[in-house]
Amino acid sequence: MLQKLRKLFRSQAATPRANAALEQAIALLQERTQRQESFQPRIIQLETRSRCTGHCSFCLASVGRDPRPDLLMSETLFDKILGELVQWKFVNRLSLYNNNEPLMDKRITDWLRRARKALPLAYLELKSNGTILSMDKIIDLFDAGLDMLYINDYRDAEAFAKGEHRPNVARILKELEASRRFKGHFERNHHFRRVIVSLRKQEEHLNTRAGSSPNRDPLPAPLNLPCLRPFEQLAINPAGLVTLCCDDLLFQEPLGDLNQQTLPEIWLSSPYDRLRLALLEGQRGVRSTCSQCDYRGYSHEMLAELGV
Ligand code: SF4
Repeated sequence: MLQKLRKLFRSQAATPRANAALEQAIALLQERTQRQESFQPRIIQLETRSRCTGHCSFCLASVGRDPRPDLLMSETLFDKILGELVQWKFVNRLSLYNNNEPLMDKRITDWLRRARKALPLAYLELKSNGTILSMDKIIDLFDAGLDMLYINDYRDAEAFAKGEHRPNVARILKELEASRRFKGHFERNHHFRRVIVSLRKQEEHLNTRAGSSPNRDPLPAPLNLPCLRPFEQLAINPAGLVTLCCDDLLFQEPLGDLNQQTLPEIWLSSPYDRLRLALLEGQRGVRSTCSQCDYRGYSHEMLAELGV
């Protein structure tokens, strides 16, 4: 089984060119960590309410399965985090969701507006499952300062096979098609879109989500596969705990607490760096979540930004 998995990942990881790029990226990141160079996450996923409206079989956060309490981030904590991002001159991606449906938090539009005002150069992005979304809401979100919206419309096997979106998403699609505002400028042979709608299968089999995915079997042993995600992403839950990866859905292994520490303090701490180095070497056994994770270990966007 383990051999089979390793083979699968080698083939997913790639062409010789991608493997060479990955090796260069690892060398660069090792050097940077050893020099204790200061840097920012490319992506911060900040969950303001731990609830979802979805029924996806691959996700533990789905309705009826979610073991988390319904946590709501306090306004004081949100303001503290925003203040730290301002001081840090944060210009990367801030996503006000993690493992939840962001529109379940009624404050989301207002909080986006505050994030926009505080961080004029950051990239504000949301992902929604579309279940409680309307065109009016989309306009409110973009008016508040959103840069990009992804709508993942998860449907049962029958609707998916017929290519059928849920009725409100089908209406949204029609209105988007008729609106130049959301199509943007025409470049080469396509528009740059600010809203991307995808029809997805509710019963999909995705990755193991660090052992939390209900429709995947546990891995027999940790993979020996580098992971670059701790250089790229940081996730915050509504209680203010910080973990190195969105796949730690239950925040089982937090690296810090924003009620006690600042964001840069946690991100640039020695325990974080030790984990980064271990994961660069492929030691996924270093944490219980990573030991159950089959993520391929890198994003093309990150490799491109590293210039490899
Ligand atoms: S190995 Fe998996 S769980 Fe660990 S940081 Fe990477 S993606 Fe996240």
